[in-house]
Amino acid sequence: MSADTTITTPPVGEGGGGGGASPAHVIIVGGGFAGLALVRRLAKARRRGRLDVRVTLIDRRNHHTFQPLLYQVATAGLQTQDVGISLRAILRHQDVEIRLGEVTGVDTVGHVVTLADGARLSYDHLVIAAGAITEDFGVPGVAEHAFGLKSLAEATMLRNQVLRRFEEASRALADGPADEDGTLSFVIAGGGPTGVELAGALAELVDLVVRRDHPSLDIDRVRIVLVEARDALLGGFSARSSRAALDGLQERGVDVRLEVGIASVTADHVTLTDGETIPARLVIWAAGVGASPIATLLGVTLGRGRRIPVDEHLRVVGIDDVFAVGDIAASEGADGQLLPQVAPVAIQHAGHVAQVLADAAKGRTTPAFRYRDKGSMATIGRASAVAELPGGLRMRGTIAWLAWLVLHLLMLAGFRNRVSVLLSWIWNYLRHDHSARLILDQREATTAETSRGPVTRSWAA
Ligand SMILES: Cc1cc2nc3c(=O)[nH]c(=O)nc-3n(C[C@H](O)[C@H](O)[C@H](O)COP(=O)(O)OP(=O)(O)OC[C@H]3O[C@@H](n4cnc5c(N)ncnc54)[C@H](O)[C@@H]3O)c2cc1C
Repeated sequence: MSADTTITTPPVGEGGGGGGASPAHVIIVGGGFAGLALVRRLAKARRRGRLDVRVTLIDRRNHHTFQPLLYQVATAGLQTQDVGISLRAILRHQDVEIRLGEVTGVDTVGHVVTLADGARLSYDHLVIAAGAITEDFGVPGVAEHAFGLKSLAEATMLRNQVLRRFEEASRALADGPADEDGTLSFVIAGGGPTGVELAGALAELVDLVVRRDHPSLDIDRVRIVLVEARDALLGGFSARSSRAALDGLQERGVDVRLEVGIASVTADHVTLTDGETIPARLVIWAAGVGASPIATLLGVTLGRGRRIPVDEHLRVVGIDDVFAVGDIAASEGADGQLLPQVAPVAIQHAGHVAQVLADAAKGRTTPAFRYRDKGSMATIGRASAVAELPGGLRMRGTIAWLAWLVLHLLMLAGFRNRVSVLLSWIWNYLRHDHSARLILDQREATTAETSRGPVTRSWAA
């Protein structure tokens, strides 16, 4: 098909509505938690004869990313392929057309989406499930110097950088006296679950692995600083869980700074809002989440958190036949607060949209979306976690950690991935290891080594 072809779709024919009408075309943008769940729910509704639709899933990546375990890739606990799963493999048995491409335009009047390669696809129902990006809140230097943790590419890059710092420090030690240039200082911005889990895993990497890999290195020089603007870690958790996270990280040697923010970041230091300067050449930004830029393509005024405003059925306010689900949607809970950007919300959003489409096909109305809170969990380190479940059930320590492991294995898509992750966890736990510590240098792939010297490959330019 040529790049500028518009695939036109005949008029909507939902619910096997008879009269030989063609099935309605549902386009889902994003193969994350929400997009995958929606494909599955629509396939199920079709199998049960409740809905007759044709489904296209568009994603700019060819894989689904299991973001909750990205921090383990960044700290060499898991391989990239444990956490990334090919969309074609995962949806092999579903009746869905998968399209690799980035959506760069949405014509909500003409019902057409445009891809970066110029292709145009028409839809009857569009579901925006494009997730979130790292939000730097305009803090100077974050975009240029800090690492985000949203994709496998970022997690792999971060792992490269972390491992490289220890190699550099070992080399510097061999070359002369240790300097305090921030090579072994890691600053993590944001004391939510991602920051806490990352800090704990990094501390564990240092204690269990770096200590053995670099015996000449003075491990006491390693500094992991976790900076949180609020007065407690794990905002949204109970005070007891926040305290447990603080104690657990401090026991592991993490320097936790509360009630202070990051004012700016440069290539070799971080300045805090209280004026303190911390030499650090590796800063990880886990302090903010913003909606994916596709939110701005709809021409609507963005809601709170710069997310897409939606009604009680997750329809984009003011636009027919366009839904927004998951992290990108400004959906509210019963208390009027924005729902958190977590996987259970995304999955439940998807279920609701599938229900709305199936009910509409049968001429029924659907009750408004209501989020069922499944609780929250965060690991602090080896055999240590906090978990808060519905009904006031709270757990800490090893039992919470085991619950976290089981839940994340169940949530992880793909049998092969589950087996692989489980084996890695068992290996790492028994061997006190983080076995995926490869430094994968992009330059090796993009630069050909020839007898004439290094040549940048044409496709790398
Ligand atoms: C480090 C980290 C740890 C987390 N830990 C947890 C946790 O422990 N528990 C929990 O419940 N939640 C956790 N979350 C949050 C959870 O991962 C998200 O809430 C969830 O992924 C949201 O699902 P989604 O489908 O809305 O978006 P995503 O899963 O982000 O998927 C969005 C998809 O859209 C695609 N896309 C974006 N823009 C375009 C475009 N223009 N064109 C085509 N495709 C596009 C992307 O490639 C991506 O595949 C974590 C998130 C992060 C980053």
